[in-house]
Amino acid sequence: MGLIRSWVESANGEDCPFPLNNLPCGVFSVSDDEPRCGVAIGDCVLDVARLEEAGLLALPGKPLLDVPFWNEVMGAGPAVWAALRDRLTALLAEGAPDRAAAEPFLHPLVDVSLHMPFLVSEYTDFYAGRNHAFNVGTMFRGPENALPPNWLHIPIGYNGRASSVVVSGTDVRRPWGQVKGPDHAVPSFQPSRRFDIELEMGAVVGTPSIGPVTVAEADDMIFGYVLLNDWSARDIQAWEYQPLGPFQAKATATTISPWIVMKAALEPFRTATPAREVPLLPYLNEPRPMLYDIALEVALQPEGGAETIIARTNYAEMYYSAPQQLAHHTTSGCAMNTGDLLGSGTISGPTKESRGSLLELSWGGKEPIAISGGTRTFIEDNDTLTLRGQCKGDGYTIGFGDCTGKVIPALADPYAR
Ligand code: CA
Repeated sequence: MGLIRSWVESANGEDCPFPLNNLPCGVFSVSDDEPRCGVAIGDCVLDVARLEEAGLLALPGKPLLDVPFWNEVMGAGPAVWAALRDRLTALLAEGAPDRAAAEPFLHPLVDVSLHMPFLVSEYTDFYAGRNHAFNVGTMFRGPENALPPNWLHIPIGYNGRASSVVVSGTDVRRPWGQVKGPDHAVPSFQPSRRFDIELEMGAVVGTPSIGPVTVAEADDMIFGYVLLNDWSARDIQAWEYQPLGPFQAKATATTISPWIVMKAALEPFRTATPAREVPLLPYLNEPRPMLYDIALEVALQPEGGAETIIARTNYAEMYYSAPQQLAHHTTSGCAMNTGDLLGSGTISGPTKESRGSLLELSWGGKEPIAISGGTRTFIEDNDTLTLRGQCKGDGYTIGFGDCTGKVIPALADPYAR
């Protein structure tokens, strides 16, 4: 399928991230207005909340968009998601009879502020990138024991904090934490000196589940995907992570892109997970391709300086897909809710330039990387980190919007009072 042309002319450009094929879901406000749901189209946002209020969306049942988050739509299930896309496509397509009715509901993107697109119910983060797990394991344990014995059998994860999730553009304050002292000395409490990013995709759960679900059912439950930066304090993590995994190192912030790209927009870019190195237990097998070909990059910009792209990779590098992770998450009987967010795990490719964290790019801080006007091992104060992702279709592009955050200096000692 090629570009679906829209009467919003800016949506028809080959490189526009928001063509009619995309219709990503966000929450926006204009000046001091209340935040409300909108859909990006070209260089505009369509106010779908007011469209519904005006009776122009014709979705079945009760209002779903009279709240400043997408959870009501997400929980309504795949038939409603499809009906919404069909109706928006009919309103915005080239030659649409309802153009005059819809046009007053457009706002230029440059005039709006973007907010969290959904209420995060709970947040789980995985460790499902083969190259990332191998790189980190090699640094910590050597190449012979790089992958833990469970890694090729189970999508490893931990329960994160929903309260850590913030929308792109939110500043991230360098955290304080407890770090290991030299040898057997007492640990110290200090601002993190090894603050890092993790380039990930986030899967957003739409329909809830009770009890174990199959991989196919899990795929049906997913509403869409966002870019996700799992900010990580490596020095805090190294001291705290045994035996229960990361805790405060990952709790400072998790930044997501402002737009949820619905699964339907990603459908042409489906691709299979890489070949299995050992067979999976049957419950984890994928009945069809469930990863996506999404080109990803990370940019670092020092305060007042030029941006450098420090990594380029692809979501298709993951060993486990989000539906496999979600299915595994339910094996215990764990209920999943509308608004649950699943981080993929750091997405690193096989080459040095395709590593999705500074820990890997600088090999534990031993090999500084070149950036415009200097070098970096880990993030310095007032650096801005931006994740970007795009799918290239036949004459069109699917984008997520920038997933960006500036790291601002640590507070003075928070306990000195
Ligand atoms: Ca992570």
